[in-house]
Amino acid sequence: MDMIRIFCPATVSNLSCGFDVLGLALEEVGDEMTIRRTSGSELSILQSEGPEIPLDPDQNVAGVAARSLLDHLGIQDGFAIEIAKRIKPGSGIGSSAASAAGAVWGLNQMLGTPLSNQELLTHAMTGEAVASNAWHADNVAPCLLGGFVLIRSYDPLDVIQLSFPKDLALAIIHPHLEIKTAESRARLGDKILLKNAVAQWGNLGGLISGLASGDHGLISRSLEDHVAEPLRKHQIPRFDAMKSAAIEAGALGFGISGSGPSVYALCKGLDPAKEIGRHIAHSFEPQGIPFDLYCSRIHPEGIRIIP
Ligand code: ADP
Repeated sequence: MDMIRIFCPATVSNLSCGFDVLGLALEEVGDEMTIRRTSGSELSILQSEGPEIPLDPDQNVAGVAARSLLDHLGIQDGFAIEIAKRIKPGSGIGSSAASAAGAVWGLNQMLGTPLSNQELLTHAMTGEAVASNAWHADNVAPCLLGGFVLIRSYDPLDVIQLSFPKDLALAIIHPHLEIKTAESRARLGDKILLKNAVAQWGNLGGLISGLASGDHGLISRSLEDHVAEPLRKHQIPRFDAMKSAAIEAGALGFGISGSGPSVYALCKGLDPAKEIGRHIAHSFEPQGIPFDLYCSRIHPEGIRIIP
């Protein structure tokens, strides 16, 4: 295969009670990536649309992830990776992860799938680490594998695809603010109180059980964050007002997507998600900061070929 064109979905990570261990892939929002074989042995990054990203392959997460995979496979062929960047970098819905995961998934397809999606994960994480300075998989894993995923363990890496009710959908507001992932992580420190840990793992178990059994009430009760949200929500203007608007309009839960500034509402159905999204947007508008509103189902496949 000399060329491939793929859709690389945006992802929502953490999902309130699953800091660094939960993530899901969206259906409607994502980048496009085209990978072509070239005659030399170089790896090059091109950008066809969207906000500026680094084009140096050592600075771009797609380049670093691709290099990691090609070195692992001992392949010295040249490839040009062209990115149509539709997920705004720094939005908190996995812009960098879409590129890191897309590069390794696309190359793996072109090379006749020598590795499984699970085996591609560490290469995508190597790329993702360039953007966030952290070794985390809660965006690259759902992007590569699709659906709702749990990272049960980082060492050794153990990623589980979860069952979830197919009617779930999300409304996401991306306020146009800059929150640096590294700074947002630093806010959390490295210790939590035992009572918060107990509440958090109770909710994480409850959420996974509710997803598996299709119990929307249990899903809703479990979407609480005792660890990151109390420390991070002050970075997002009108966070409490948006949360109240979402819950009053019928959302199952509301929280910060990744390290923000995007916020998400998990909803029962796409039409309710659109309605709830309008309510959240209405409560954010007085702030006067421009924002995007996205509404989407969860996509079971993640990255896919654009026919
Ligand atoms: P997000 O959660 O939206 O991915 P991050 O802060 O984790 O936000 O990543 C964005 C940072 O990664 C920006 O500094 C951006 O320049 C850098 N970056 C490098 N390569 C890419 C890429 N291919 N796509 C998006 N961002 C990239």
